[in-house]
Amino acid sequence: MITDRSKISACIIANPDLRVAPELLLWLLDSHIPRKNILVYRGNDRDQVAAYNAAVEMALGLKGVDYHLFADADVRPYSASNALFESRFNITCVKCDTETGLSAWADESDFHTALWLADNKVLRQMKGPWFGWDYNESHSRINGCVCGKFRRAAIDKGFSIGHVGHARHYPRGSQLPDSICVRNCYTK
Ligand SMILES: [Zn+2]
Repeated sequence: MITDRSKISACIIANPDLRVAPELLLWLLDSHIPRKNILVYRGNDRDQVAAYNAAVEMALGLKGVDYHLFADADVRPYSASNALFESRFNITCVKCDTETGLSAWADESDFHTALWLADNKVLRQMKGPWFGWDYNESHSRINGCVCGKFRRAAIDKGFSIGHVGHARHYPRGSQLPDSICVRNCYTK
């Protein structure tokens, strides 16, 4: 249970259009994460790997925080997502709908990046690049998503990793009709 929410940083990974789901911003504020700790990273929508790696780099550059939360800009947390702050895993994600539905969470240590939280001390022990596609040998086929590399590295280091709760998410190809556009001046 994280009681001191002032020690959490939150990095929202947005596409270049800077659209963010309103529920995400409201949930972060309702969760008492200080506004000054909420950052919006303008990711490269052509390179998801670079965007996630850059977000971790940015988070590790922050001082005075004990936990780092990362959220895709189109994830929509609600009350069922609050379990994230009660988790005892070193690295915890909130279960959400993926391009392959909920089957992506079949294993109790499955990890995906839509909404997740890591202990600062743990994240600092993991060397980048943290994310990368899992290709076959000729790089002609993707065997798994960009999160598998991070999951395997965490397990190899003996960190606990798991998922709790649920957040709403409309995977790639779905519309995000009521997102809001944050201005450039709010981004990092
Ligand atoms: Zn994934």
